[in-house]
Amino acid sequence: MELNEYQKRALSTAVYPLDSEIIYPALGLCGEAGEVAEKIKKILRDGGSFTDPKTVVAIAKELGDVLFYIAAIADNLGLTMDDVGNINLEKLRMRTERLIHLKATEMIDELY
Ligand SMILES: [Mg+2]
Repeated sequence: MELNEYQKRALSTAVYPLDSEIIYPALGLCGEAGEVAEKIKKILRDGGSFTDPKTVVAIAKELGDVLFYIAAIADNLGLTMDDVGNINLEKLRMRTERLIHLKATEMIDELY
């Protein structure tokens, strides 16, 4: 499934007060990110395994909740999920280029 199709289908299920606009999904995103962290914390605390299929599905469900709120916030800003993904990929590409340049500079400095 493409990101934009996900966004359209996910937002068709949204049942929150639309007059709260971006605030509601922003709060939802924080809550769901916390649920991801909580699941991981409990696995670490209880000695669980990240390869256990039940664990993986449980975390995937929470990641999906995070994805939903990202889609909702993007929509509030007039962005598609493809926009968000493309902007992020460009940011990552530029960061990687900076790190490669920095490493190359450090290596050159070590040589001389
Ligand atoms: Mg959740």
